[in-house]
Amino acid sequence: MRASTYPLIDAAEAAHVVLDHTQVLGVERVELVDCPGRVLAADIKAPMSLPADPVSAVDGYAVRSADAGRSLRVAGESAAGHPFDGSIAAGTAARILTGGVVPDGADCVVMLEDVRLEGDQVTVPASLRAGANLHKPGADLREGDLLVRAGAQLGPAELGLAAAVGMAELTVHRRPRVALMSTGSELVEVGGTVGRGQIFDSNRWALLAALRDAGADVNLTAIAPDRADPLRDLVEQALGDADVLVTSGGVSVGTHDLVKPLLETLGTVHIGRVKLKPGKPFTFATVPGSKVAFGLPGFPVSSLVTFEVFVRPALRKMQGFAQLQRPTLPVRLGFDATATADRTEYHRVTLTRDGVELGATSTGSQSSSRLMSLAGAHALVRVPPGDQGLRRGSGVEALILSLP
Ligand code: AMP
Ligand code: MG
Repeated sequence: MRASTYPLIDAAEAAHVVLDHTQVLGVERVELVDCPGRVLAADIKAPMSLPADPVSAVDGYAVRSADAGRSLRVAGESAAGHPFDGSIAAGTAARILTGGVVPDGADCVVMLEDVRLEGDQVTVPASLRAGANLHKPGADLREGDLLVRAGAQLGPAELGLAAAVGMAELTVHRRPRVALMSTGSELVEVGGTVGRGQIFDSNRWALLAALRDAGADVNLTAIAPDRADPLRDLVEQALGDADVLVTSGGVSVGTHDLVKPLLETLGTVHIGRVKLKPGKPFTFATVPGSKVAFGLPGFPVSSLVTFEVFVRPALRKMQGFAQLQRPTLPVRLGFDATATADRTEYHRVTLTRDGVELGATSTGSQSSSRLMSLAGAHALVRVPPGDQGLRRGSGVEALILSLP
């Protein structure tokens, strides 16, 4: 074993260093079918008003409100997609269906259940209000309105708005291409058999889920052994057409930990150790060609917590997200959270509603090998370094992973 020569960087400072070295990726025009989940790169402004014409909100009769109380001749019909060509003169009405254009001359719609029909004569109520039961042009949105802002993720409402104004393609940011690699000579591909001293490679699958959720386009590589030459070959190959390399394992100070020295030869290592628990050996490097490399620690919880703190915000920056960080909410601690003297600790918690408050319960042993401490966790509570810790009953801001 040798002592690490990398300075221990404050966790918040390390997060800044990562973001400072991360570039927003280019944009591309994408058909709507491939847009869900993508991040919009240019504002969508309405090229038209909606509805474009006055349309009926109900099934009934389009009439002039001045004809209230009269018996009117039904001159025709306006159905969705089949407008009535004529105009409504005094003493006449048009049968109208939901979504049908309100014909010229008419200024309101009477509901079917409010009229009396005899032959082609319809008797309307004694009091009618102009504008009743119809959507005026521009009631939903007006030409020139800002519909979706650049930096927003395209979800159901955003995609629906784009389609409603006739946009078949949108300008979105490219997804980061991420090469994902597990390193460690003890690792066995899931599906194989583990011998003495071997374990299944779980990090690649855990990180695949985390990466996909963060919007990455993931390329899974083979397991790299703890041997310098094959590791270098695999890493160089993986970096080929990737924007980002994410490795797990091989970054602590044991003699088999080869990722840091390899990254030193390929680019510049900006972070080699962080005052973070779990995740002290987190490593970050830039590689020529505008690529970034994240060397995540091997312990399963350490790799996922450092992913949350460093990798996810960086991937979001690359995609042009307006919001890089997880949302936070105030929670009430239901336990004493002990602190680590020199490192910020991320304690995994579940949340339960307690009246108008959210109560936080520890997920149990916070060992960095115990993935069960993350399974079902709703939030991460940041425990500042020192000897104080956080007392049961205190209110803190928690990073929300998912809500109960
Ligand atoms: P390392 O960072 O390589 O020293 O690994 C720290 C611990 O994490 C060791 O117990 C490893 O066996 C374990 N580990 C490393 N990589 C993985 C992986 N891909 N899946 C599961 N556990 C791993
Ligand atoms: Mg290892």
